[in-house]
Amino acid sequence: NHQYRLAARPVGLPKQTDWTYTEEPTRSPSDGEILVKILYISLDPAMRGWMNDVKSYVPPVRIGEVMRAGAIGKIIESKNPDFKNGEYVYGVFGVQEYAISNGRGVTRVDSSLAPLPIYLGALGMPGMTAYFGLLDVGKAKSGDVVVVSGAAGAVGMIVGQIAKIKGCRVIGIAGGADKCKYIVDELGFDAAIDYKSEDIKKSLRKHCLKGVDVYFDNVGGEILDAVMTRLAKHARIVICGAISQYNNTEAPQGPRNYMALLVSRARMEGFVVFDYEDRYAEAAREMSGWMAAGKLKSREDIVTGLSTFPDTLLQLFKGGNTGKLVIEVASD
Ligand code: NDP
Repeated sequence: NHQYRLAARPVGLPKQTDWTYTEEPTRSPSDGEILVKILYISLDPAMRGWMNDVKSYVPPVRIGEVMRAGAIGKIIESKNPDFKNGEYVYGVFGVQEYAISNGRGVTRVDSSLAPLPIYLGALGMPGMTAYFGLLDVGKAKSGDVVVVSGAAGAVGMIVGQIAKIKGCRVIGIAGGADKCKYIVDELGFDAAIDYKSEDIKKSLRKHCLKGVDVYFDNVGGEILDAVMTRLAKHARIVICGAISQYNNTEAPQGPRNYMALLVSRARMEGFVVFDYEDRYAEAAREMSGWMAAGKLKSREDIVTGLSTFPDTLLQLFKGGNTGKLVIEVASD
């Protein structure tokens, strides 16, 4: 069983030396346990935060521990009455080839309904984040102008599509012409802003004449500042993440112009998707319906091989991925 373990707490972007690549024999499951062969590992911006020794919504990964990651795998040996051999499951199995689990937090996925990697994207944690962040926290409704950053990424691409389904006007902010073309031409966003080549404030003025009702923020920093100059009255800013700040060696940059909240009688609210666990099934049902009806598209960016992990993780911070970034560890 090959594994990536955290060797050191990174300063700035994670380096090769922050990891150790280890190998240990796979043991048989004990009573109550399952042995899972991992097929796909989810790469998430949040992993960068879990590497820091700070208080957060989950404890940090310890030095020497297998890196935490959500993954999809197949049960090859079950000694837990709730699971059978051959079933496909999602769990926080870690960056490795095989995992032993007591079944807690493990959920079955149905490979006959959708290809397995989609359960790490649109029908998985990023999809749930988009759904509850936009509808519950952002309270997006028909006629709203919705702006989403990180718009060609796992969460952002679903946010924009759900907003369209709900009758909103949607503007996505993403890095590069290809991503901008993709979200408009393929996903049906009304407009895109390439933050790498455009003046964001100027483009926002052009696309959002009456201001922004919902801003779904995945990136923080300068882009958050820019959108805050264009809020409509009673705007909702959903703080989903701040990827532009995750590798800072200094304190994250806060919004410089927060008084815009006062002027616009606006609200800014953060959320953690895990708080909605009880309602995942409800969201997944509705989203699979939209997918079957051709209204919601999923896209996964799949890289092959566990050994690519340190480099593949960095793609998230360099904008190397379009859609959900996944490592294929083994074929079924
Ligand atoms: P993505 O698939 O969107 O990948 C990250 C993308 O971020 C990159 O492709 C890149 O796209 C963009 N990016 C990277 N650096 C910068 C930068 N400096 N400025 C602007 N954009 C940048 O990741 P996810 O969809 O998985 O996650 C999106 C956000 O949602 C993250 O902030 C994550 O932490 C957060 N999240 C929060 C959850 C919650 O419960 N609150 C749950 C899940 C995710 P580009 O080419 O456009 O720059």
